[in-house]
Amino acid sequence: MRLRAFAGKLSLVSFAANAEIVSPAPQFAEIAVPLRVAQTFTYRLPLGLRAQAQIGARVRVSFGRQSITGYVVDLREELDPALGLDETALKEVEELLDAEPLLTPEVLQLTRWIADYYAAPWGEVLKASLPAGLNATSEQILTITEEGQDELARLPARRATSAKGRLLQMLAQAGAGAPLRAAVLELGKNAAQQATRELSRMGWISVATRSRTSGTKPKRRKMVRLLELTSEEQAATARKLSDAQQRLIAALIEAGGALPFAELVEAADISAAPIGTLEKRGLVSVTVEEVRRDPLAGVELPQINDFPLTDAQTNALHMLLTPLSEGRYAAFLLHGVTGSGKTEVYIRAMRAVLEQGRSALMLVPEIALTPVFSRRLRAWFGDAVAILHSSLSAGERFDEWSRIRRGAARVVIGTRSAVFAPVWNLGLVVVDEEHESTYRQQESPYYHARDAAIVRARDCGAVAVLGSATPSLESFHNAKRGKYTYLQMPDRVANRPLAVAEIVDMRQLFPEKGQAKIFSDELLEAITTTHERGEQSIILLNRRGFSSFVLCRSCGEAIRCPECDVTLTYHRRAHLLVCHYCNHRTRPPQTCPACNSKFLNYIGEGTEQLETLLQERFPDVRIARLDRDTTARRKEFERAIMSFGAREIDMLVGTQMLAKGHDFPNVTLVGVISVDAGLGMPDFRAAERTFQLLTQVAGRAGRGRLAGRVVIQTFHPEHYALRHARAQDYEAFYLEEMRYRQAFNFPPYVALAALLVRGVNLDNAQRTAAALKAALEANNTERLCRILGPAPAPIARIKGEHRFQLLLKARNRAALRKTLDLALADAQANGCDLRSVNVEIDPVNLL
Ligand code: ADP
Ligand code: ZN
Ligand code: ZN
Repeated sequence: MRLRAFAGKLSLVSFAANAEIVSPAPQFAEIAVPLRVAQTFTYRLPLGLRAQAQIGARVRVSFGRQSITGYVVDLREELDPALGLDETALKEVEELLDAEPLLTPEVLQLTRWIADYYAAPWGEVLKASLPAGLNATSEQILTITEEGQDELARLPARRATSAKGRLLQMLAQAGAGAPLRAAVLELGKNAAQQATRELSRMGWISVATRSRTSGTKPKRRKMVRLLELTSEEQAATARKLSDAQQRLIAALIEAGGALPFAELVEAADISAAPIGTLEKRGLVSVTVEEVRRDPLAGVELPQINDFPLTDAQTNALHMLLTPLSEGRYAAFLLHGVTGSGKTEVYIRAMRAVLEQGRSALMLVPEIALTPVFSRRLRAWFGDAVAILHSSLSAGERFDEWSRIRRGAARVVIGTRSAVFAPVWNLGLVVVDEEHESTYRQQESPYYHARDAAIVRARDCGAVAVLGSATPSLESFHNAKRGKYTYLQMPDRVANRPLAVAEIVDMRQLFPEKGQAKIFSDELLEAITTTHERGEQSIILLNRRGFSSFVLCRSCGEAIRCPECDVTLTYHRRAHLLVCHYCNHRTRPPQTCPACNSKFLNYIGEGTEQLETLLQERFPDVRIARLDRDTTARRKEFERAIMSFGAREIDMLVGTQMLAKGHDFPNVTLVGVISVDAGLGMPDFRAAERTFQLLTQVAGRAGRGRLAGRVVIQTFHPEHYALRHARAQDYEAFYLEEMRYRQAFNFPPYVALAALLVRGVNLDNAQRTAAALKAALEANNTERLCRILGPAPAPIARIKGEHRFQLLLKARNRAALRKTLDLALADAQANGCDLRSVNVEIDPVNLL
């Protein structure tokens, strides 16, 4: 109920807020285009658009020989003489796509920072900041200008019946503008289009294009309802019903009295005719209703309770509320073990923010986390919650985005790109599980949503909270040097003990039968006792680079993707070999493609095989598998998670995504089949990732009153990442890992950039890489940077493109960028095609 009070304040904030920063009569627009170009471009505004154009709107402009969508990032009355532009040579903006700008000043500022920091094209960042599919369809809106009004008044009567005259009159009556299709209805297509062109050229009308995605149209559906009848009426009609009509009534009764038209037709197995008949006879009503595409429609909400906070929670919350109440920026690292009640702290802080009349944004690493958590938020905040992530339908995403843009949604939860949500009056930004690498966008424009979130908070005087049980080394380092305030919650709520991890040395099992064993006796025993007690388990396979593939026993060759330098993964259910990089699919061959031998072996176990093996051994245990293959469909994934929570499933088998976030009190066993593949990744973050994974997964066990057990199988039991994870000793791991980072010059001790050169032609790619190297050396005059490579990238070929990598390291970021920017400019001047080069600042995954 408290939420209703905010609604009044909100209506004050409207799109018009942007108008204030627009100068009175801009003639020129600075446009960012979503292409690999560093600069923005100046275009002239045609007369009809001068009053309409606003910063943050999309426009259509011609660029080279194409016509593309660009973004207005600035408006000017005069050209800056320093730019030396020839006014007559400037092209005109072709079309204004948004009568109301989509990009808020805050989002413009944030994207600008990202473009600068990550050396990314601003236009590309702007494009990434808007919900995809916005350009799907559009319609043109015509508005009469003041000059047009004057002209209309002067118009002699005989000309008023011309197409142009009629159009002007029509628009004068419409006032707020009318769609072109209305003019077409009135005048016919050709006349309407010609009149529009001519009037717009005279500056008498303006033409804007309003996007009409599937989302902008409200969704409607037909509902069929059973009308209330007295029992006599029922008895009287029942006898006269046909079979189809009776099925129809039965289906409606079963559904509780109402069903959408389409579903009813299917459920009762009828045509539309009987519905019409019954409507006429007054037994059912048929109405058209508007439906909001609500990603949380119809879900059951959890109980919420206002339990007293622990001391650690109280302290953390107090620290957050102080800068919040003062309306100033502050950044915190909330380091709390799994189950210490971090989420509860976020929720209380959000409530405080809403009471202030401000908004809150919470980022989560992936979709796997949202079903449980977003329900918790919905239970607290009702319709004020909006959810943004990539597996929403375009319509759902657009509806949610628009609710945020309007100020109707004040609590936003979403994945990476939600950092661009057009939230009004932001007071709090939470980045949950801040160490997760999914916050890093893995394609251009590269950006890290955690770092962007900090910048966004800083720019609008909000409080930022980074939360994790295993902070990234960077964030912990930042906390140590005072950039973030460090908050610690070292204990679980209600003194529940942390699960004890047992490490099983698989080397001792290996020689027993000369064959690799998948399950140790320890793990099998643990599974048995867990399920005998009626408790639940999670079995995890760290599959990174460790999936089943086909190996020839005669020649030792693995079957590889023809386009990428990786082995193909065998998918048993579909009986296909699939490339996980380019999605190349092929039937498994009968004989080795290299030597024709028949002895093909299926090596390694994927989650699919794991599930099968476990089911064979434990036939009574209800097992569900969750990984990228099964979770392509969000609803299925949610169903599995929910039924695991409801204890309709006993065991979940899957990949890393199971390690995160979920809170299942009845889970008392977590088994990790193998951590070794993760440790062996050619990436300096391999140890950190493994430590995080093990700590997170251990946190899944024993969340309720029952104590938990964690069994980790490995061939490297002495590795420090395992040792410290077992002891749940973050600080010890941090110190040891930092020594290694310092010794080998890796972040956070140095600023790092990766340059990836791609090319179908090996020689060209190699030449470009060598040219870049030379340009970097030539500009490294003060020896501020170390330049490594070029070397083949860890995956040397993807989708038929060869890949070479150069690494650039420097003591500080300014030195790094100076050398990098000069070198890139030089390379380009020397004919290097930079479109084939990905430049990544602070890379997260080196692939
Ligand atoms: P985290 O996000 O740190 O893993 P959660 O906030 O999800 O932890 O809390 C773990 C569990 O403890 C949840 O079931 C939550 O409802 C419960 N919980 C959190 N704070 C308290 C508290 N102060 N008193 C009792 N239960 C709590
Ligand atoms: Zn062979
Ligand atoms: Zn491939």
